[in-house]
Amino acid sequence: MTEQDHDTRGVFCNRTLNLRAIKAIGYDMDYTLVDYHVEAWEQAAYERVRDRLVHRGWPVEHLRFDPEMVIRGLVVDTELGNLVKANRFGFVKKATHGTRELGFEEARAAYAREIVDLAERRWVFLNTLFSLSEACLYMQLVDLLDDGKLDPSGPPINYRDLYEIVRKAIDATHMEGQLKAQIMADPARFVVRDEELALTLLDQKHAGKKLLLITNSEWFYTSAMMSFALDPLLADMKTSWRELFDVLVVGARKPEFFTTRAPFFEVVTEDGLLRPVVTALRPGVAYFGGSAGEVEKFLGLSGDEILYVGDHMWGDVHVTKSVLRWRTALILRELEQEVAALASFREAERGLATMMAEKEGLERELSRTRLSLQRATSGYGPAIAEPRGALHARVQELRARLVTIDAGIAPLAKAASELSNPRWGLLTRAGNDKSHLARQVERYADLYTSRVSNFLRVTPFEYLRSPRGSLPHDPSTPSGPPLVPALRTT
Ligand code: IMP
Ligand code: MG
Repeated sequence: MTEQDHDTRGVFCNRTLNLRAIKAIGYDMDYTLVDYHVEAWEQAAYERVRDRLVHRGWPVEHLRFDPEMVIRGLVVDTELGNLVKANRFGFVKKATHGTRELGFEEARAAYAREIVDLAERRWVFLNTLFSLSEACLYMQLVDLLDDGKLDPSGPPINYRDLYEIVRKAIDATHMEGQLKAQIMADPARFVVRDEELALTLLDQKHAGKKLLLITNSEWFYTSAMMSFALDPLLADMKTSWRELFDVLVVGARKPEFFTTRAPFFEVVTEDGLLRPVVTALRPGVAYFGGSAGEVEKFLGLSGDEILYVGDHMWGDVHVTKSVLRWRTALILRELEQEVAALASFREAERGLATMMAEKEGLERELSRTRLSLQRATSGYGPAIAEPRGALHARVQELRARLVTIDAGIAPLAKAASELSNPRWGLLTRAGNDKSHLARQVERYADLYTSRVSNFLRVTPFEYLRSPRGSLPHDPSTPSGPPLVPALRTT
């Protein structure tokens, strides 16, 4: 297998972007500049939320975080207590009720007339890796609610109420100090330090780009995480992470940061004391709150001169693109596993494609033979030389061959649907189509990549070009979309 086939660290381009024309690069922190061991971080968050619910009197002590149960890009159906995977059109392709997988007929009965529309409150999109602990716990609680185990003597709650309770507990857990204190006490257990991160940022800075850090995290946590992730890599240069950034904003309240005009506060002391900002922003100062509009004013830049890089599909990428027209890059950590899984399936995929082509040919012949039989039986249309008995026999023979070929296709199709995650399959595919997540990525993220340090390889000067889009009627396009998206640039 060549590197070309299997580029887990590529910077993939949906919309052509000339990095030379980018004057400022803004970074999100959590799961972007600072990468976490997902199992460790989400388990810590999960356990704190679960313990809050124990205090509420719910019998949930026994519940455990299951990192395989949920993947990013799924959608919670808060009306039915389900978790669904939708394709790019919003059609549900797979579903669970609580933790139980729905069979084909059950899923069809629930969703044959429904389209996942994220503008409706009913649907909650799992935007980031932080969503995994939330969705896992919610699905487990749906099981308990169905069994009548949650507060049976209290007022009845429905699946939506249950979701709101979990949401509130998650919010409170992220905001109280204990979870962050646990992470800060043992950062090596939670943070994946990327040895190439500092060089990537230094290259960009020395190429004349302004670097911005815009995070929703609090000052004390940001400072601890950034220092752990970067300072050892900068020690030789006798500098620290703070010197890398021209603008530093914590507590940004994204996505509101991109849409409203909240005031900036200056972070005055290391423990996060705040003072209102009365004059213009100053370089080298850490700020709290504020808005993207003020940052644009401070930099004297706007729109397509700024690239923002983040991991949150909605808060970092969708809103930024829709409202400000900044250029956007999505950090999709799972992409490395996704690309590797696709590469490992390449051979099987070729076999599957050959069998599908054969199946399509047989189906076409069957349809034509059936039509000839219909015309011969009803006595209309062009004369048919073949006797009806022979047509009948051919229909039977073609059906039998299709049964045989389906038996060969089924295990391969099943293996394809279980790539990367046995229950949900690949992040970017739903059935033979793109997933809802993939559709959002192509609409709102100009670039996507698995980690920030992948920019090291494209340098701050590269002209990233999107591939020519393909359409079903293109002469060279195979009958279905390619399983491996042809979106690489490097
Ligand atoms: P960012 O990704 O650097 O903007 O920061 C994400 C911050 O939001 C972290 O401090 C998280 O703890 C916090 N966070 C993530 N999910 C939630 C949530 O559901 N409610 C409240 N805070 C959250
Ligand atoms: Mg983030």
